[in-house]
Amino acid sequence: MEVLRALHVLAARCHLQTVFFLFLLSSRPLLIPGVLDEVRIGGIFDNHTVQVRTAFLHEVQGFNSAYATAYRFNLRNETSVLDVTDSFAVSNALCKHLASGTFAIFGVSNASSMATIQSYTNTFKVPFVTFSMAQNTSSNTSFQIYMRPIYVNALVDLIFYYGWTKVYYIYDSDEGLIRLQQLFQAVNAHDRFLSIDAKRVASVDNCYNVLRQLHKQEEKTLRRILLDVQVDEAEEIILRVMRATDINNSKFHFLLGDLGMLEMNLTNFRVGGMNITGFSLVDPHRDSAQILLDKWKNLDTRQWPGAGINNIKYESALAVDAVKLFTRAFNSILSRDKGFLHEAVTSGANKYIKCTDDSEVRTGPGVKILQQMKRETLDGVTGKVAFDETGHRKDFTLDVYNVAMNRGTAKVGHWNHNAKKLVVEKPRLFQNQATGAALVNKTQRVTTIITKPYAMFKNMPSEDGTPPLAKENLEGFCVDLARAVSEKCNFDWVVQAVKDNTYGQPQENGTWNGMVGELVRHEADMAIAPLTITADRERVVDFTKPFMSLGISIMIKKPINHKAHVFSFMDPLSYEIWMCIVFAYIGVSVVLFLVSRFSPNEWHLSGEHAITNDFSISNSLWFSLGAFMQQGCDISPRSMSGRIVGSVWWFFTLIIISSYTANLAAFLTVERMLTPIDSAEDLAKQTDIQYGTIESGSTASFFMNSKVQIYQRMWAYMTSATPSVFVKTIEEGIQRVRNSNGKYAFLLESTTNDYHNQRKPCDTMMVGQNLNSNGFGIATPIGSEMKDKLNFAVLELREKGILAKWEKHWWIDKGECDPKARSSKEGAQSALTLQNVAGIFYILIGGLVTALISAAIEFFYKSKTDSSKYKTTFGSALRSKARLSFRGHLDSTGSDRHMNGSKRSMNTVREKLYSYTAPTQVGVDTYEDANTHTEV
Ligand code: ASP
Repeated sequence: MEVLRALHVLAARCHLQTVFFLFLLSSRPLLIPGVLDEVRIGGIFDNHTVQVRTAFLHEVQGFNSAYATAYRFNLRNETSVLDVTDSFAVSNALCKHLASGTFAIFGVSNASSMATIQSYTNTFKVPFVTFSMAQNTSSNTSFQIYMRPIYVNALVDLIFYYGWTKVYYIYDSDEGLIRLQQLFQAVNAHDRFLSIDAKRVASVDNCYNVLRQLHKQEEKTLRRILLDVQVDEAEEIILRVMRATDINNSKFHFLLGDLGMLEMNLTNFRVGGMNITGFSLVDPHRDSAQILLDKWKNLDTRQWPGAGINNIKYESALAVDAVKLFTRAFNSILSRDKGFLHEAVTSGANKYIKCTDDSEVRTGPGVKILQQMKRETLDGVTGKVAFDETGHRKDFTLDVYNVAMNRGTAKVGHWNHNAKKLVVEKPRLFQNQATGAALVNKTQRVTTIITKPYAMFKNMPSEDGTPPLAKENLEGFCVDLARAVSEKCNFDWVVQAVKDNTYGQPQENGTWNGMVGELVRHEADMAIAPLTITADRERVVDFTKPFMSLGISIMIKKPINHKAHVFSFMDPLSYEIWMCIVFAYIGVSVVLFLVSRFSPNEWHLSGEHAITNDFSISNSLWFSLGAFMQQGCDISPRSMSGRIVGSVWWFFTLIIISSYTANLAAFLTVERMLTPIDSAEDLAKQTDIQYGTIESGSTASFFMNSKVQIYQRMWAYMTSATPSVFVKTIEEGIQRVRNSNGKYAFLLESTTNDYHNQRKPCDTMMVGQNLNSNGFGIATPIGSEMKDKLNFAVLELREKGILAKWEKHWWIDKGECDPKARSSKEGAQSALTLQNVAGIFYILIGGLVTALISAAIEFFYKSKTDSSKYKTTFGSALRSKARLSFRGHLDSTGSDRHMNGSKRSMNTVREKLYSYTAPTQVGVDTYEDANTHTEV
């Protein structure tokens, strides 16, 4: 038996040597520089990796036909297709390839066969380049090169970026288990908390059921799933979840554990509100990828199974890069050491080691090749291909893609191995060639909202209904804008009105409504409307620079004007002040009277015997009044105390009159608008006047997301108020302001506010400052090619003043109200009218009439007293007095008969007319004091 075996080995060796000898004989002449030589490589694939094998073979063939001459060697490959989970089969295949003298083996592997592969390739020192999952177990001396990067740190960074604290890790293989271990390690390296619930599933069905179960368990929380299964299976699972009618899709966020996010049929996820994030190793827009794909899609699938399509699996791309890497490395060695191949074959032929199947394998050149492969760097289909000492990829970049909110797939960032950092970018819509090409030269669908004065029907909708929606039937600021940008950017357009008549707000299930929603769902190509640029919207659509600036403002119903009235002259001082003045006047007069009474200096001799005091109560009142009116009077205090009273009263009067005069002009000429609300603060602190916004728009979002206390309070009020203070459209809000008699204030954007205040019946006004400041922009779906062109067009229109011209046209020229009343706070200032000052005429007339009446009373009263005094009839006394009054002097004929024995002189007359008391006072001299002394 032993002998037989020895013979067999000998025979095998002889056979091998013969083969090698023949091989050397045949190849020796080919080793002359410039002549091709053959380099053997092996491949191990399984039934699931047909495309990977095709890519590998195609790349080898491509090298042989295109580059072999330049590189001076030819690749000769031999591949085996087997079940890679079967270690025995794998070891047999390895031995076969090793025995045939391969320089490197390429292939797929899995966790169970990897140990076998490692031990063989390490023993025989032949590099094994795998496209399958990398494990952390390699060392510097390992002979494995892992084309697939380790990206567990990227996963963890993404999880932490999303702020997740709990993930469900669902996996279906031993690799998944290894990754779970890597995940735990990576999480531990961060000082953040993450709870991972792991579950191994056996099949798509099983996984779907697990997810259903999850959905049922915690209805309220968002379920974050790290789905570590192959891309095609992940796609099937997510589709099943998405299509299940009893599962709320928006409750799931899937993070894919595989690197082939773009291999999914992405259009499936455009609708449904499912959130999916994943990585892609292949950037299809990269030149190296494009070159490959151009060839790949034209391949005949009979010869090249798995090819002939417009995309390539990342594992296949890895196979392509692996072949590239090997050829590069081999060529580098050859260019340094021209005899390397020759030597490898000849000298290596002496070193044989037994393989399992008793074949013997030479060892030797592998080390050099391995080292060179680790040193090589190239720009491959999977980005930068470079390796560290242990054979793992370094400096690679993974693109992060996300499918969300009806948007389709967008690139949202990238993770770079070198920087060990996740960079989040603005979402760029992922377009494959088909959709990308479709955008060019097509008629653009412009969505807008029919609202004044941005887009409105030219002739108001008639009774027979609204005219058809077409750009010819519309006018307004945004219609002008659309027309201008279409000319500038040279595109044809059709207008469509937003179906739900809203602007756009995120919904509970993560989708958007309104114009923003239409753009997200690609139902329109751009929105030219009063659409406010906000951060939330900017995440899902692109905006141009603003074409109009505005802020949130308050609209109220104009209060009834406080026009100047007949007693406007009273307005400069308040009612209280007038009352205080009256009391002060009376008080001062009384005090003056009292101090004068008690002050000896105020008493003085009058005439011969009378001692008098000028400040009787009526004289005190007269003095104070004279001073107040700034007129003065004949008497003035002589005592110290009286003068003190006088001076303080004069001072008081001086200030009051000056203040009154200062305010008078303004109060007589300005129509004052007394608004109940002047600012948002005013609104917030009262409950009498309701206030609200439109339902789905940036104004509501502003309050909803505000961190300012007042606005938070206002939002709390608005959401709790019944009946609802929200309105569907701006027009409805304005109508509500008009109809609510000052009990509803509407929060809307300042430009719209301004416009409506200039429309009949001119009964609304804007109050207060704007609450914020933002702008309207033209919106396009993310990644739209139109965006940059539109941006230029808007900027140009703005710089040339065309936008300002339109604004003037639609706002001011078309205004229907008195432009003077535009500004809310200042009323119109104009000349004084009779109405302003009528009051003083009334007072004048009133005073005159009162004087006449009092004169008449005095007249009759005097006649009456005289008639009784002189014992004449009342009639004759009356006549006599009337005669005197009409003539102006006494009758010289002595008709004044009732005055018995009186002297007929002026003096006597005066005595008759003016003396009320003693006859001693008769005489011109005494007259001076007559009206003051008599009452003492
Ligand atoms: N222009 C606003 C918007 O874009 C409408 C509003 O909320 O006042 O949503």
